[in-house]
Amino acid sequence: MQALFDKQKAYFDRGTTIPRSSRADALDRLERAILDYQDEIEDALKEDLNKSSFEAYTTEVGFVRHSLRKARRHLKKWMKTRRRRTPFFHLFTRSYIKPDPLGTVLIIGPYNYPFQLVMEPLIGAIAAGNTAIVKPSEFPSATETVIKKMLNETFDDGFVHVVTGGKETTQSLIALPFDHIFFTGSPRVGRIVYQAASENLTPVTLELGGKTPTIVDEHAKLKVAARRIAFGKGLNAGQTCIAPDFLYVHENVKDEFLRILKETLDEFFNDTDDFPRIINDRHYERITSLIDEDKVVYGNHRNAESRYLSMTVMDNVSFEDPVMKEEIFGPVLPVLTFFSLDEVVSTLKERPKPLALYVFTERRQNAQRLFDQLPFGGGAINDTITHVANPHLPFGGVGESGIGVYHGKYTFDAFTHYKSFVKKSTKADPPVAYPPYSQKKEKLVRRLMK
Ligand code: NAD
Repeated sequence: MQALFDKQKAYFDRGTTIPRSSRADALDRLERAILDYQDEIEDALKEDLNKSSFEAYTTEVGFVRHSLRKARRHLKKWMKTRRRRTPFFHLFTRSYIKPDPLGTVLIIGPYNYPFQLVMEPLIGAIAAGNTAIVKPSEFPSATETVIKKMLNETFDDGFVHVVTGGKETTQSLIALPFDHIFFTGSPRVGRIVYQAASENLTPVTLELGGKTPTIVDEHAKLKVAARRIAFGKGLNAGQTCIAPDFLYVHENVKDEFLRILKETLDEFFNDTDDFPRIINDRHYERITSLIDEDKVVYGNHRNAESRYLSMTVMDNVSFEDPVMKEEIFGPVLPVLTFFSLDEVVSTLKERPKPLALYVFTERRQNAQRLFDQLPFGGGAINDTITHVANPHLPFGGVGESGIGVYHGKYTFDAFTHYKSFVKKSTKADPPVAYPPYSQKKEKLVRRLMK
């Protein structure tokens, strides 16, 4: 690890990653590599998580290709040194901001979108002129293998290199004095990464998870709500950081909503062959152990061998149930009810700040009230998930759900230091700021600086 890290540092110090032409060339090479490996990537995602080709393309390969295009198109604009205004008393001075790469960075990925969640930060790291070590999750092993083959074949190991392995590998990597660590994963491991990074004062982006509340108020269009919630929870079988974790439904519409939700789930997910599988036995055991069979009102069909768990709805759940004590990260939807928005606000405010929040309502003032009063990373009114797919919006958590944002230009920013500097003319050198400070000078300064 140390030798690889030193090699990347030396590569960065040679300045090869700085010119726009080399960043553009690297992004082009990455795009070509992804096109060459597209089928292998999609096959690997099928093998690891049983992702359909539709999901594999829209949420992984296509998502990344779109980001690459955008980074390539805007690179010149993003890299530009920009002039800023200068207070007039600085006299004969111009001010600038120059985007500068951070250096050698580490990208650590989780298992659920194993391709997208390392490639997306890598695009920003390359565009911003860094060298990068990439550590994908070890659990989707077929995808891990393709990512390693693809990137290590495409790039010099001093520039971009994939290291594979489990937590011991990650632990030796995070001990190194990287210039930035970009981590996507659980809050538990996020703490370990943050602690190790602090030893070297390494800045971090932590893209973590949590329990995303999904509120359905009595003025919601129930059919649309059911469809959009079913879509967001079904995606990758609930193994999505911004999936609706639990439903918080107004008591007056709960029965009707559950009836429509069940119909929708029947309609959407009767093709079990294409439904994603839980990543491994440990997570399968963990998720199924959260299900209280007495509270199941839909689904709970299982096949332990293939790690299949159908969409499952639990009713009459309270915040004291085990399913409400941790992020579910699987196709289980607990339903809780409320009577008033006051109750929603006070209850949710006591819980850790979530990565996302979804509100279904036709009353604008209700949505606004919840969005004004509740903290969350990002969210949607009358939708789930889609805010993540808009590169013009920064994506990231707050509090327990993470530190920092990325996507689009924000990914470039995550791997950039904005150097600020001034340039002063030497044609004139008024002595006003220089000692000795006469009363006359002070009087003048006091007049100008206010
Ligand atoms: P995880 O935290 O278990 O693992 C993430 C990475 O950390 C893996 O590469 C793993 O090898 C490494 N790791 C695991 N244990 C470690 C340890 N003790 N020391 C050092 N490294 C270790 O996360 P996961 O299970 O792969 O992913 C699920 C979590 O990630 C969920 O909480 C989910 O919400 C979150 N997530 C967040 C986002 C986001 O964008 N905010 C996206 C996807 C997933």
